[in-house]
Amino acid sequence: MAESTYTCIICPRSCRIAVSGMPGALEVSGHSCKRGHDYALAEHTHPVRTLTTTVAVEGSPLRRLAVRGTAPVPRELLRDCLKQVNAARVAAPLRMGDVVLANVCGTGVDVVASRDVPAS
Ligand code: SF4
Repeated sequence: MAESTYTCIICPRSCRIAVSGMPGALEVSGHSCKRGHDYALAEHTHPVRTLTTTVAVEGSPLRRLAVRGTAPVPRELLRDCLKQVNAARVAAPLRMGDVVLANVCGTGVDVVASRDVPAS
């Protein structure tokens, strides 16, 4: 397998980390600490992204609600997850942490409210 390089985003040092080799025998180089090693390995084998966006709210002075996933989602599904969440509508009132969309795109990740939403 060809070598891939990643810029570590764990700390401001931004090390350039290379991952090469075959699955089960991957080699990591260029990292300055174990956190960077683990980050690059995860990016190479199973990249995930944090899901944060907003949804439309009905029945409240608040028109859109900031929401977040309860866990990261696979990077290749992030766009589909955002589409599904952005198409959703929620009804007030809501409490911070309420599930506004369960199991988004079959990932097993729930999308929850980031704040309380009063009813109008
Ligand atoms: S490898 Fe370690 S030192 Fe380098 S950017 Fe990542 S966390 Fe920071």
